[in-house]
Amino acid sequence: MGITHEAELLAQVPTGLLINGRWGPAASGKVFGVEDPATGRTLLSVADAGPEDAMAALDAAVAAQNSWSRVAPRERGEILRRAFELVTARIEDFALLITLEMGKPLAEARGEVAYGAEFLRWFSEEAVRTSGRYSLSPDGKSRLLVTKKPVGPCLLITPWNFPLAMATRKIAPAVAAGCTMVLKSANLTPLTSQLFAAVMQEAGLPAGVLNVIPTSTAGPTTGPLIKDPRLRKLSFTGSTPVGRNLLAAAAGNVLRTSMELGGNAPFIVFEDADLDAAVDGALVAKLRNMGEACTAANRFIVHKSIAGEFAGKFAAKMNTMITARGTHPESTVGPLIDARSRDKVHELVTDAVASGASVVTGGAPVEGPGYFYRPTILTGVREGTRILSEEIFGPVAPIITFTKEAEAVRLANSTEYGLLAIVFTTDFNRGLRMGEQLETGMIGLNAGIISNAAAPFGGVKQSGLGREGGLEGIEEYLYTQYTAIADPHTD
Ligand code: NAP
Repeated sequence: MGITHEAELLAQVPTGLLINGRWGPAASGKVFGVEDPATGRTLLSVADAGPEDAMAALDAAVAAQNSWSRVAPRERGEILRRAFELVTARIEDFALLITLEMGKPLAEARGEVAYGAEFLRWFSEEAVRTSGRYSLSPDGKSRLLVTKKPVGPCLLITPWNFPLAMATRKIAPAVAAGCTMVLKSANLTPLTSQLFAAVMQEAGLPAGVLNVIPTSTAGPTTGPLIKDPRLRKLSFTGSTPVGRNLLAAAAGNVLRTSMELGGNAPFIVFEDADLDAAVDGALVAKLRNMGEACTAANRFIVHKSIAGEFAGKFAAKMNTMITARGTHPESTVGPLIDARSRDKVHELVTDAVASGASVVTGGAPVEGPGYFYRPTILTGVREGTRILSEEIFGPVAPIITFTKEAEAVRLANSTEYGLLAIVFTTDFNRGLRMGEQLETGMIGLNAGIISNAAAPFGGVKQSGLGREGGLEGIEEYLYTQYTAIADPHTD
């Protein structure tokens, strides 16, 4: 897979805006460049949507909504199934494109394509299962009919860290439910969504159902849509501060919202844990996606009696990782997304060290080009240090210790976030007890990775609202309508 393949692939990526089934330039004629974070080189330039384009995209979504909601569920499901087959057949193309624009190693990018495609398959199956109910009222005098209807035109906003999966996790249930969409991809990684939208067209999605507007001006471009009463739903995945602002903006229109926001996952290791399994789990929970995942383990809370051994084994594994451009066949850790992210990671490490933490391994950026950071373990991190309360979004593992179960629970819950907690223990009852006490939407019990299209993904507290995937995912795109049926012949 050389330079030629990269050039051939990039030549296949649509660079326009997709509005009403047609790819075209932005009204302003502007474009913006997309960079390879491993080299700093510009890969491609794409059309830069402004408010006028966004409004045209919403117009197209609104115009298509009625006819799209009448397309038979089976047919909507079959479009998704075809899209699943097409993405799966092009796994190498999608993986390479993700690696080029986002940086993750190719093996991980393939994993993301498989995971992202699963949402297409899962919701192709769910499209035909949006049943309601029919019942007699308790007094026997009327009938109750409860049905599900598509919420209507949706604005979908996605982040850069999983350029395919974050898009399919929203688009697939919206298609299954019969909603039309405007997708605003992340400006750092729009290319995968561009190629994916072309695949959706190839799979038979009618014009206007999915409109795609990459932009370098997210707020001004999407702001007018959020104020437009024809928009019925906002589904956002991204940081908590941006999510808060979008929630406030959505309140003006009382929009349905789904918010998949930031995380600060505790990774708790009890003294009875299978230590080798815990270290393997820690490696993937920390280093998958270079730590740039909302589910990445952010704080390692380890029983004092095993903390030294855990840190030693974890460091030994970390030191076998190969930090290199994601296209390098041996790369296991790619670059961070940009200089700002790399500098923020280093700032958190420097702050922790200044507050008394020790560096077991790593602790510094790698010389450029590209925005690489050495996989890092810190011990002796003090409570109250910034690195324990902020999303690190990098390959850095701060370790703190505990002695009593209640202390582990207190430390784990002492964050505004509530997305995921990971617990390693061989005591099954303790595992269940921890699940009962941890304030998170998801728990990994002896599991470093929990993502699964068949499971409801989402958080509590300031990690968000709503769920994606599972039986719950499609509900986010449906509303419930109740019809009271009076029977005049009933006494
Ligand atoms: P971000 O800065 O919040 O951006 C996310 C998306 O929102 C991007 O498309 C961004 O556009 C857009 N955006 C930013 N400001 C906006 C505004 N004023 N109006 C409308 N859209 C706006 O987050 P990120 O850095 O891309 O992604 C990392 C964050 O996502 C982390 O906090 C991570 O935890 C979270 N995340 C959560 C989940 C989950 O399921 N809970 C999954 C993945 C990631 P631009 O690209 O143009 O800035």
